[in-house]
Amino acid sequence: MENLGRTCVAALCVCLCTSAYAHAHAAGDLERIQQIVDDLKTRLAIPQTVHVTLVPTNPTLFSVAPVEHERGTFLLSVEEDFARALNDEELTAAVAHELGHVWIYTHFPYLQTEELANDVASRVIDRSTLRPLYEKVWNRTAAAELKAEVIHQQAGELRPLP
Ligand SMILES: [Zn+2]
Repeated sequence: MENLGRTCVAALCVCLCTSAYAHAHAAGDLERIQQIVDDLKTRLAIPQTVHVTLVPTNPTLFSVAPVEHERGTFLLSVEEDFARALNDEELTAAVAHELGHVWIYTHFPYLQTEELANDVASRVIDRSTLRPLYEKVWNRTAAAELKAEVIHQQAGELRPLP
Protein backbone atom coordinates (compact mmCIF):
# COMPACT_ATOMS: atom_id res chain seq x y z
CA MET A 1 0.00 0.00 0.00
CA GLU A 2 2.82 2.31 0.94
CA ASN A 3 4.53 1.41 -2.30
CA LEU A 4 1.46 2.30 -4.29
CA GLY A 5 1.33 5.68 -2.54
CA ARG A 6 4.90 6.34 -3.49
CA THR A 7 4.22 5.39 -7.09
CA CYS A 8 1.34 7.81 -7.21
CA VAL A 9 3.43 10.62 -5.81
CA ALA A 10 6.14 9.87 -8.32
CA ALA A 11 3.64 9.83 -11.17
CA LEU A 12 2.11 13.09 -10.02
CA CYS A 13 5.54 14.64 -9.82
CA VAL A 14 6.41 13.58 -13.35
CA CYS A 15 3.10 14.98 -14.48
CA LEU A 16 3.66 18.34 -12.82
CA CYS A 17 7.20 18.55 -14.13
CA THR A 18 6.03 17.85 -17.66
CA SER A 19 3.40 20.54 -17.54
CA ALA A 20 5.80 23.03 -15.94
CA TYR A 21 8.24 22.24 -18.73
CA ALA A 22 5.55 22.77 -21.39
CA HIS A 23 4.73 26.16 -19.90
CA ALA A 24 8.36 27.22 -19.80
CA HIS A 25 8.72 26.03 -23.37
CA ALA A 26 5.71 28.04 -24.56
CA ALA A 27 6.94 31.12 -22.73
CA GLY A 28 10.29 30.71 -24.44
CA ASP A 29 8.63 30.46 -27.87
CA LEU A 30 6.53 33.54 -27.20
CA GLU A 31 9.56 35.50 -26.06
CA ARG A 32 11.56 34.35 -29.07
CA ILE A 33 8.85 35.45 -31.52
CA GLN A 34 8.19 38.74 -29.72
CA GLN A 35 11.90 39.53 -29.93
CA ILE A 36 11.94 38.90 -33.67
CA VAL A 37 8.81 41.06 -34.05
CA ASP A 38 10.33 43.95 -32.13
CA ASP A 39 13.61 43.73 -34.01
CA LEU A 40 11.96 43.66 -37.45
CA LYS A 41 9.48 46.35 -36.48
CA THR A 42 12.40 48.69 -35.84
CA ARG A 43 14.08 47.77 -39.11
CA LEU A 44 10.83 48.27 -41.05
CA ALA A 45 10.12 51.55 -39.24
CA ILE A 46 6.76 50.27 -38.01
CA PRO A 47 5.84 52.30 -34.91
CA GLN A 48 2.65 50.37 -34.13
CA THR A 49 2.52 47.95 -31.23
CA VAL A 50 2.44 44.30 -32.28
CA HIS A 51 1.68 41.75 -29.59
CA VAL A 52 2.25 38.05 -30.15
CA THR A 53 -0.09 35.31 -29.02
CA LEU A 54 0.43 31.56 -29.36
CA VAL A 55 -2.71 29.60 -30.22
CA PRO A 56 -3.32 25.84 -30.48
CA THR A 57 -4.64 26.17 -34.04
CA ASN A 58 -4.72 28.90 -36.64
CA PRO A 59 -6.12 28.02 -40.10
CA THR A 60 -3.42 30.14 -41.76
CA LEU A 61 -0.75 29.23 -39.18
CA PHE A 62 0.31 32.88 -38.86
CA SER A 63 -2.07 35.82 -39.04
CA VAL A 64 -2.14 39.43 -37.98
CA ALA A 65 -5.05 41.79 -37.36
CA PRO A 66 -5.70 45.16 -35.78
CA VAL A 67 -6.86 44.95 -32.17
CA GLU A 68 -10.40 46.27 -31.89
CA HIS A 69 -10.78 49.54 -30.00
CA GLU A 70 -7.01 49.83 -29.62
CA ARG A 71 -5.76 52.16 -32.28
CA GLY A 72 -2.26 51.41 -33.49
CA THR A 73 -2.15 47.97 -31.90
CA PHE A 74 -1.98 44.68 -33.74
CA LEU A 75 -2.12 41.08 -32.67
CA LEU A 76 0.05 38.47 -34.35
CA SER A 77 -1.50 35.08 -33.83
CA VAL A 78 0.80 32.11 -34.26
CA GLU A 79 0.04 28.40 -34.26
CA GLU A 80 2.25 27.11 -31.50
CA ASP A 81 3.32 23.75 -32.93
CA PHE A 82 4.04 25.22 -36.33
CA ALA A 83 6.21 27.98 -34.86
CA ARG A 84 8.14 25.34 -32.98
CA ALA A 85 8.82 23.49 -36.23
CA LEU A 86 10.50 26.54 -37.79
CA ASN A 87 14.16 27.46 -37.47
CA ASP A 88 15.12 31.06 -36.69
CA GLU A 89 15.47 32.01 -40.33
CA GLU A 90 12.04 30.65 -41.27
CA LEU A 91 10.43 32.19 -38.22
CA THR A 92 11.99 35.53 -39.10
CA ALA A 93 10.70 35.22 -42.68
CA ALA A 94 7.19 34.42 -41.42
CA VAL A 95 7.19 37.35 -38.99
CA ALA A 96 8.55 39.69 -41.69
CA HIS A 97 5.68 38.65 -43.98
CA GLU A 98 3.09 39.32 -41.27
CA LEU A 99 4.68 42.69 -40.49
CA GLY A 100 4.33 43.35 -44.20
CA HIS A 101 0.57 43.08 -43.63
CA VAL A 102 0.84 45.50 -40.68
CA TRP A 103 2.68 47.92 -42.95
CA ILE A 104 -0.11 47.65 -45.55
CA TYR A 105 -2.77 48.20 -42.85
CA THR A 106 -1.13 51.53 -42.09
CA HIS A 107 -0.28 52.75 -45.61
CA PHE A 108 -2.60 54.04 -48.29
CA PRO A 109 -4.27 52.41 -50.27
CA TYR A 110 -4.41 49.69 -47.58
CA LEU A 111 -4.60 46.99 -50.21
CA GLN A 112 -3.75 43.64 -48.62
CA THR A 113 -2.04 41.27 -51.01
CA GLU A 114 0.37 38.44 -50.32
CA GLU A 115 2.76 39.78 -52.90
CA LEU A 116 2.97 43.24 -51.34
CA ALA A 117 3.40 41.70 -47.88
CA ASN A 118 6.34 39.75 -49.31
CA ASP A 119 7.73 42.89 -50.95
CA VAL A 120 7.71 44.68 -47.61
CA ALA A 121 9.21 41.60 -45.93
CA SER A 122 12.00 41.46 -48.48
CA ARG A 123 13.29 44.82 -47.20
CA VAL A 124 14.54 42.98 -44.13
CA ILE A 125 14.89 39.36 -45.18
CA ASP A 126 16.32 37.56 -48.16
CA ARG A 127 13.43 36.56 -50.43
CA SER A 128 14.97 33.10 -50.82
CA THR A 129 14.26 32.38 -47.15
CA LEU A 130 10.55 32.52 -47.97
CA ARG A 131 10.78 29.39 -50.09
CA PRO A 132 11.46 26.80 -47.36
CA LEU A 133 8.90 28.57 -45.23
CA TYR A 134 6.19 28.28 -47.86
CA GLU A 135 7.06 24.65 -48.41
CA LYS A 136 6.51 24.00 -44.74
CA VAL A 137 3.30 26.04 -44.80
CA TRP A 138 2.11 24.13 -47.82
CA ASN A 139 2.96 20.71 -46.43
CA ARG A 140 1.30 21.52 -43.18
CA THR A 141 -1.87 22.99 -44.59
CA ALA A 142 -2.20 20.40 -47.34
CA ALA A 143 -2.05 17.75 -44.66
CA ALA A 144 -4.76 19.54 -42.74
CA GLU A 145 -6.76 20.16 -45.91
CA LEU A 146 -6.66 23.87 -45.37
CA LYS A 147 -6.56 26.10 -48.40
CA ALA A 148 -7.82 29.64 -49.04
CA GLU A 149 -5.35 32.35 -48.13
CA VAL A 150 -2.48 29.99 -47.58
CA ILE A 151 -2.54 28.69 -51.12
CA HIS A 152 -2.33 32.29 -52.25
CA GLN A 153 0.75 32.77 -50.15
CA GLN A 154 3.15 32.37 -53.00
CA ALA A 155 6.20 34.55 -53.12
CA GLY A 156 6.27 35.56 -56.78
CA GLU A 157 7.91 32.56 -58.37
CA LEU A 158 6.81 30.25 -55.59
CA ARG A 159 4.20 27.65 -56.33
CA PRO A 160 2.74 25.11 -53.97
CA LEU A 161 4.14 21.63 -54.29
CA PRO A 162 1.96 19.32 -56.38
ZN1 LIG B 1 -0.06 36.87 -45.84
